[in-house]
Amino acid sequence: MSPAVYLIVMLSVITLVLAISVPVLFLQKCPACGKRNSLDARHCKGCGGELPNYDE
Ligand SMILES: [Zn+2]
Repeated sequence: MSPAVYLIVMLSVITLVLAISVPVLFLQKCPACGKRNSLDARHCKGCGGELPNYDE
C-alpha cells in the first residue's frame, strides 16, 4: 500500500469516527425511549415525553 493511499484511508476513518461521535455530544438521549433529541429540546421527538433539563 502506497503512503498516499494509507493517508487517504486514515483520513477517511478519522472523518467517519468524528461524524459518528460529534453529534452525540450535542444530543441527549430520551430516558424513556432512547431517541436522541437536541439539547434544548424539552420534549422527546420519539415519544413526546418530558426530557430532563440540566440547565435549570
Ligand atoms: Zn422518548
